[in-house]
Amino acid sequence: MTTIREKLVLVGNGMAGIGTIEQILKLGGAYDITVFGSEPHPNYNRIMLSYVLEGSKTLNDIILNDWNWYEDNNITLHTGTMVTRIDEGSKQVVTDSGMLVPYDKVIIATGSNSFILPVPGSDKEGVVGFRDISDCDAMLAAAKQYNKAAVIGGGLLGLEAAKGLVNLGMDVTVVHLMEDLMERQLDRNASSMLQAELERQGVKFSMGKQTVELSGEQRVSGLCFSDGSTLAADFVVMAVGIKPNVTLAKDSGISVNRGIVVDDYLQTSMQNIYSIGECAEHRGMCYGLVAPLFEQGMVLAKHLCGSDTKPYEGSIVSTKLKISGVDVFSAGEFLDSPEHTVISSKDEWKRTYKKILLKNNVIVGAVLFGDVTESANLQKLVKQGAVMTDEIYTEVMGTGCCGGGAKKSTSVEAMADEEIVCGCNGVTKKAIVDAVTEHGFTTVDEIKACTGATRSCGGCKPVVEQILQFVLGDSFQQAAKQGICGCTTLSRDEIVAEITAKGLKTTKEVMNVLGWKQEEGCSKCRPAINYYLGMMNPDTYQDEKESRFVNERMGANIQKDGTYTVIPRMYGGVTTPEDLKKIADVSLKYDVKVVKVTGGQRLDLIGVKKEDLPKVWEELDMPSGYGYAKSLRTVKTCVGSQFCRFGTQDSLGMGALIERKYERLDFPAKFKIAVNGCPRNCAESCTKDIGIVGNDGGWEVFIGGNGGIKPRIADSFCKIKTDEELIEVCSAVMQYYRETGNYLERTSEWVERMGLERIQMVILNNEDNRKELAARIDFALTQVTDPWKKMLNDSSTRAALFEETRV
Ligand SMILES: Cc1cc2nc3c(=O)[nH]c(=O)nc-3n(C[C@H](O)[C@H](O)[C@H](O)COP(=O)(O)OP(=O)(O)OC[C@H]3O[C@@H](n4cnc5c(N)ncnc54)[C@H](O)[C@@H]3O)c2cc1C
Ligand code: SF4
Repeated sequence: MTTIREKLVLVGNGMAGIGTIEQILKLGGAYDITVFGSEPHPNYNRIMLSYVLEGSKTLNDIILNDWNWYEDNNITLHTGTMVTRIDEGSKQVVTDSGMLVPYDKVIIATGSNSFILPVPGSDKEGVVGFRDISDCDAMLAAAKQYNKAAVIGGGLLGLEAAKGLVNLGMDVTVVHLMEDLMERQLDRNASSMLQAELERQGVKFSMGKQTVELSGEQRVSGLCFSDGSTLAADFVVMAVGIKPNVTLAKDSGISVNRGIVVDDYLQTSMQNIYSIGECAEHRGMCYGLVAPLFEQGMVLAKHLCGSDTKPYEGSIVSTKLKISGVDVFSAGEFLDSPEHTVISSKDEWKRTYKKILLKNNVIVGAVLFGDVTESANLQKLVKQGAVMTDEIYTEVMGTGCCGGGAKKSTSVEAMADEEIVCGCNGVTKKAIVDAVTEHGFTTVDEIKACTGATRSCGGCKPVVEQILQFVLGDSFQQAAKQGICGCTTLSRDEIVAEITAKGLKTTKEVMNVLGWKQEEGCSKCRPAINYYLGMMNPDTYQDEKESRFVNERMGANIQKDGTYTVIPRMYGGVTTPEDLKKIADVSLKYDVKVVKVTGGQRLDLIGVKKEDLPKVWEELDMPSGYGYAKSLRTVKTCVGSQFCRFGTQDSLGMGALIERKYERLDFPAKFKIAVNGCPRNCAESCTKDIGIVGNDGGWEVFIGGNGGIKPRIADSFCKIKTDEELIEVCSAVMQYYRETGNYLERTSEWVERMGLERIQMVILNNEDNRKELAARIDFALTQVTDPWKKMLNDSSTRAALFEETRV
């Protein structure tokens, strides 16, 4: 006897619709299923279009359910076909090709369309949205033919599109109506850090601009703004938002507001017709991210299969930007108000930011920038409405005064079986546990292949690892090792070894030969490789200015208001009346607002306009103080035996000598030294990378101190008798750090990682080694030149960097 199955028609072959069908199949729902999709493709992962554009995935990589999947599951698929109406009377759906298909139940999952600004010119050639494969194809094609692109919209989509186009070699400006990027997900702090990072990666920004018209003949040639200014662009991506696709529902007489109105079981106003995904409106909310769609799909699948289910009560959304080297996350509430208790920490050196918002001690939101390792955990806590405790605080903020310290792994034991771990692909904890216990999978990659978890944005990877750890205990295989950034799995040491073994000469060569995932690298690896190459081949390597951070490129530190600071050298903190007069004259002439005495005993001219920088350097005629660089900054001194009655050593003279000797050399990170005339330590050697303290018999050297965001008292390294020995030891320590330090790693971290004893063994117990290290730094020092003088003699770089260009 054959049982008659109910006919289920799905309109919309996207992630929400097919996700629901997958759940129905898992629950054993007995339906004859027909799927209509207006795109010509099987179901694909729309989220990953950003990766396709960025170049790290192909269209094939992002197919979620290939043609065979439909066949294997007896699903009738009609691609390239629009459903135009649902006829309630005859219980049939009607397509644009005239097909009539009977139904018992229909799921409308028609998603959204890109919102195209209704301004004159928006229908010109060269204007696209960013929604589907055809938009992605248009962008890939445009990049081959055109150079100047504008992306309207500084939200998640706009920024991912902009970075993709930059990777494709276009000159891209993001035009945003508001002053803050991603203002619906990030607070001002995170937003400005994000903008700075993207600027470093080559994206330009035009903020607070309202586009009123697109100019050009047949093809777009530029944007006109409400303040009268313009921007040239021969390709425009509109990423200003999405509009729920409600046409079919509306034309069929179903109740529609902004989206298709549904109740807590995803039922529309028409009997037997359901709606989920971006096109649906639940309790006044239309969602634009996948996690809510899967939560809806789970409730609907159970409802349609007659299983017990709680009603859908809405979702708490979280966001993660998918640009390599730019880690941003937010969940729940993110703007603080008087009713919130705010926990935050910001590390300007590591460029990380963390903020957690509590309301009556309940965790209601979080923002992370730079380090998003806690994202999955925080997402879960926000979703659960967890109450903040000391234990959770330590877990998410770390111990210690600066948020460091060991972190406890999250307890996945307490998670409910049905809790979604992978929001992008709707994978529950139970599905992952089953994949381990029933199929014997033991690695994240196997879990990915089996369940789909971690397949999209990757934000859930830490939780998947914790579940594996929890289920497998000691037999859990740790995840594959991490490279220096997302572009490679190679560590710093492996890269340096390959550079030597293969004789690699340029950053491009390193990335090509060592199989970088992104041809151009990212803002993390480019400056690092540039440093390693320069450190290894000081005489032959051509420094790549474009691989340096912006301050190093400019030779000055940019300030909040767009002006720069100029810090000339003052060896050992000593100046002369003549130099002081020059500084005063130049400051007056170039309208320098503030002259500040720095903590490193020199003068900082704050507020120099970009175009005035070369003239200021020329007229000061003093060496650069490298206040902007990963290089020797200051040598702080006390007055020492020349003047102080306690002084036993000439700290002033030694400080100036050391500063003159080692200035201009690149280090993995900034480097600070202090020299004191006696153990009273007035110039604070204990917080410097190298601290030198005079004593009766000679000098004592300290290393690895830091007074910044993660303070560390320097370790006593050795005691020395003569000035010559002191210089040799300092040279060897600096060169050993240059040769073994990770880029951006301060000596405070380097000493902890390498171990003080090991450094002492290499330098103090082996004279040959010490002398060779000292000889290598001396050779490198013969290659350095003053960057300000160099810039003044290079008229083309000077023009390119400092002469104002207006669009
Ligand atoms: C570039 C990009 C990056 C993204 N990144 C993220 C991210 O990082 N995280 C995140 O959570 N979300 C992200 N999103 C959003 C996410 O992709 C969507 O929320 C999700 O795909 C919506 O699924 P859906 O099934 O509701 O709609 P869709 O995926 O739009 O599917 C609807 C389908 O229905 C078809 N259709 C429409 N009308 C008809 C009709 N009448 N007849 C037949 N077929 C029809 C459409 O052609 C479409 O194929 C991103 C989106 C884009 C475009
Ligand atoms: S450290 Fe010693 S020598 Fe230097 S100023 Fe202080 S007391 Fe004098």
